[in-house]
Parts: sequence; structure tokens; C-alpha cells
Amino acid sequence: MNWSFRLGTVLGIPIRIHFTFLFLLAFFFFSVSSQSGARSGLMSLLFILLLFGCVLLHELGHCVVARRFGVTITSITLYPFGGIAALTDIPREPAREILIAIAGPLVNFFLAACLFVFAGFRIRMDSLDPAVLAATSPFWALLWANLILGLFNLVPAYPMDGGRILRGVLATRMPYARATHVAARIGKAFGALFVLIGILRLDWWFPILGAFLYIGANAEEQATLLQSALEGLSVRDLMITDFLLLSPAETITEALRRSFHTFQEDFPGVREGKLLGVLTRGKMLEALKEETGEQFVQGLVQPVNGWVSPSDPLREALRRMHAERVSLLPVMEDSRLVGVVTLSGILRNASVVASQAPGK
Ligand SMILES: [Zn+2]
Repeated sequence: MNWSFRLGTVLGIPIRIHFTFLFLLAFFFFSVSSQSGARSGLMSLLFILLLFGCVLLHELGHCVVARRFGVTITSITLYPFGGIAALTDIPREPAREILIAIAGPLVNFFLAACLFVFAGFRIRMDSLDPAVLAATSPFWALLWANLILGLFNLVPAYPMDGGRILRGVLATRMPYARATHVAARIGKAFGALFVLIGILRLDWWFPILGAFLYIGANAEEQATLLQSALEGLSVRDLMITDFLLLSPAETITEALRRSFHTFQEDFPGVREGKLLGVLTRGKMLEALKEETGEQFVQGLVQPVNGWVSPSDPLREALRRMHAERVSLLPVMEDSRLVGVVTLSGILRNASVVASQAPGK
């Protein structure tokens, strides 16, 4: 289950909000209004919403620059700890990655500058005591929040913006996978440091952020290493050629009995060398539960739209599986089925290749 819901679309990008974000709003509203009244509670709610408006603009800053470089943006999701823009295929050219990463903090500095002009104007209108105004004016509070947001995101803790800039700088003088490995190490060290700071200060925000940083650095490093490992590999290198075929004329019971002798989870249904579709073990078990298992394979195979050829890059096969939400693609050569590529097969075997990649 996806724990977020869609709020709307900005510049063609779906904006999503994670459910936990609502808890943050409720927490602030109730804790402030129980101390200083419902009016203050509403004001604090408004402030949080304005603050996350700035976080959204920060993410849109990344997206606008990324889009100029041809990157696809799937969504922006707002979490209680900040926003995350989901970009597919972050460019591997260091200069582009640095520009995309720096665009977010620059938006916050720009907003801070605008608020400075606006708040400065308001001060001259109201009073000249800056100490009083800093405590009461939401503009000043928002100005400071934007300065802190911009500066904090520049901390070189991968996968935060500063860490991505660091990876980009490192990648100008070493292979990309190695640069990612070094940046991820530093990111994990910052993650551990944040957890420690949180424990020492008895603060809950730092440990949560630290844990997310640590997990994020690890996951992104693995994904990058996998991508690097897949580079240069074609479908032929990791396709499965020794697999069980189902005949459309056999029954589910017969097919299941034969499937007990393989590790396979997805089975191509083939008639005279032509692919009819794919049947998964799960679907067969479902059919067995609901009916007697005497129905034929033909009626249950799911048609597969795409296919790849043995010479296609493996990254292309992965991209197509992701796009079509399937875990298996047939490999065709001269309109004959010569093999299958499966997600689990790629992940399992690519990790062997990845462990030999530079940077490990
Ligand atoms: Zn950012």
C-alpha cells in the first residue's frame, strides 16, 4: 500500500502528501492550542503549511532544472521531515547533477531574500524594535526557516542535496560508482552522527532524520551500483534459457505438478513456438483454490505486450518491466521465443556482478 494521497498537480507533476504528514499537523495544532489557545493553534498550523509550501517550491526547483536535462519526474511527495521528488534517471554528468541538486537550496535563499524585503518593509510600517518583531512576525520566522532549510540541505550528507553535489564533484575525478560509494559512506556517517546528536539532546527529530539518511544512502548506493553493474550487459547475459513452458492444452493441475520441479515463478504459455502469454504460480494456486484445477492453461494465461531481443541492453529490459509493471519479459529472436528475463533473476545475478564492480 502507498501511504500517500494525491493533492493536485503543479507544472504537470503530481503532488502527493504522506499520511504521517497529517499527524504532524494535528500534533502541532493540539500541542500549541492546549498551551495558548485555539487561535495560536491555527496560527501555528498556518505557519507549518506556509513552511511546507516553501519545501514544495524547493522540490519544484530541483524538478524544473532536472526537466531541462530531459529527466522524467514521477511525483513530489511531502513527508513530515521534508519533500522528496522522484526523478527517474538522474543524469550521470557531474555538472548536471550538481545543477539539479543546488537548485533546491537556491529557491530557499531566494525566498529568504524576498521575505527580507517584505518583512523589512513591514517593520518600517509597524515598529522599529526588531527583537519584538522577530518574536511576533511570521515573516521573520519564515525567513529564518528558509535560510536554515537552504543551509541544512547543503550539508554534504548523501542523499541530501549537499551530498549529491559532493558526489558530482567526486565524480569529476573518479569513476561514478566509486564516487557514489564514497559519498554514501559520508552520508551514513552523518546519519549516525544525527542519531547520536538526537540522543544527547533528547530530541526526536534528529534520530528520525539520521535513520532516513542512513537507509537512504544505503538504498541509493545499492541502486547505483546495480545500475553500474548492468551497464554494458545485454539481455543475453542474464536471460533464462532453461525454463519450463506450459502448453495451452494442459490443465492447471498438470501444469502445477510440473512446476514443482523448478524454481520458476512465471511460466510462458506457448503454442507451436508462439508465445500466448504468461501464467504465474500464484495465479495457478488461486485457480486451484477457486475451482477444481481442471480448467485449461489457455484460459488463464495473461497476454504480454512487450518483448526484448537478446541484444537489447539489460537496463532497457528493466525499464520496460518497470513501465509495464510485469516481472517477466519474453526474449524473442526471429519471432521465436528463445528465453525469458525475470526481475528476480536480474536482481539475484546482477548482485554478483555488482560485487565485482569498481568501488566495492
Ligand atoms: Zn533538495
